[in-house]
Amino acid sequence: MEEWQRLLKDGVNNAQQLFDRFGVDKALAEQISEDFRIRINAYYLSLIEAPGDPIWRQVVPDAAELEDVDCPDDPLNEEGDSPVPNLTHRYPDRVLFLVNHQCPIYCRFCTRKRKVSEPGWWNKETLKLGIDYIRQHTEVRDIIISGGDPMMLPDHMIEWILSELRAIPHVEILRIGSRVPCALPQRITPELCNIIKKYHPVYVNTHFNHPREVTEVAKKHCGMLADAGVPIGCQTVLLKGVNDDPAVMKELMQKLLTIRVRPYYIYQADLTKGTNYFRTRVEKGLEIIKALRGHTSGLAVPHFVVDAPGGGGKIPLLPEYVVDINDKEVVMRNYQGKTFRYPQVPEPYATDTTDSPVAGTNGVAGGPYEHTLRIPEPAALLE
Ligand SMILES: *Cc1c(COP(=O)(O)O)cnc(C)c1O
Ligand code: SF4
Repeated sequence: MEEWQRLLKDGVNNAQQLFDRFGVDKALAEQISEDFRIRINAYYLSLIEAPGDPIWRQVVPDAAELEDVDCPDDPLNEEGDSPVPNLTHRYPDRVLFLVNHQCPIYCRFCTRKRKVSEPGWWNKETLKLGIDYIRQHTEVRDIIISGGDPMMLPDHMIEWILSELRAIPHVEILRIGSRVPCALPQRITPELCNIIKKYHPVYVNTHFNHPREVTEVAKKHCGMLADAGVPIGCQTVLLKGVNDDPAVMKELMQKLLTIRVRPYYIYQADLTKGTNYFRTRVEKGLEIIKALRGHTSGLAVPHFVVDAPGGGGKIPLLPEYVVDINDKEVVMRNYQGKTFRYPQVPEPYATDTTDSPVAGTNGVAGGPYEHTLRIPEPAALLE
């Protein structure tokens, strides 16, 4: 048995073990785990310092999971945009492809609680249907391989999926979404790295939520992936009692860069059933971005996004830096709150090299500055 398999086996995998370890309410934990299993592998367990701490909160069931029953099972309507089972085609050129139900830990705030931890919704046949769909859709150039966690599959399954997708001529990049680099780094073995690097370009987007997850072990194994040529990004979820604090987020983002993981997104928590107790106000995310941008390396500043309820996709939110845009100038605030002005290009030079409109045709019509932005008519420029 490999080390990572032993760590899974030796972890907390049910209510009884959770009770034995922490003395929590066993009946309650049992009830909660009927809907969404408990899993805290021995490595992640070792990161818990005290009950209720930011590591504990992510993985130990809470009575509040039974509360907000009105929230939807599928808040992002992933099933509604699903042409074949376990594949969501929402954006023009890329698809989300769910290939496994298992994870190295079961995060209590998981958006995909409706499927994750529950076996039976995927098998090799549904994988083939997904691969066929991608083969038939030449517009798809980017595959987000997710789950569950693809890296929890055996090596030969990972290799099969990567090789099938890589054989499709129009597929340009492969992305693996995985919590393994954070929650069970030991799964990143030399053998796995050797498989992945055969199918480049392969990107990995992982998921760290707290600076205490950035350990020497994570550093070693993320380094192995990076040495195999895999760019690693991080998709953090903003969570109450875990990282809803600009100082904690700043430390996390800076530490991620030291282990060669590049912050990519901070997600506002989704409206998933049983996860309201993790939600913050949206302003908290804006406050965090404001505390990062300019104050630390630009590489440490991810995009803050809200995945729009009902399936609208990810919408980036920014603190307000633009004070005004008019024909003469742009008035802006910098990270220190000081105001600066940038003059617009004078009329004789204002011709666009393309005729792309400023707002309107890309689905982002009606922005707040549309009424003040004005592209001069070509005729006016010829005078
Ligand atoms: C997040 C997501 C993607 C990928 O989005 P990027 O912004 O390209 O990272 C693709 N499809 C679905 C359904 C998603 O939720
Ligand atoms: S690792 Fe990701 S998919 Fe798995 S339980 Fe955690 S958030 Fe959900």
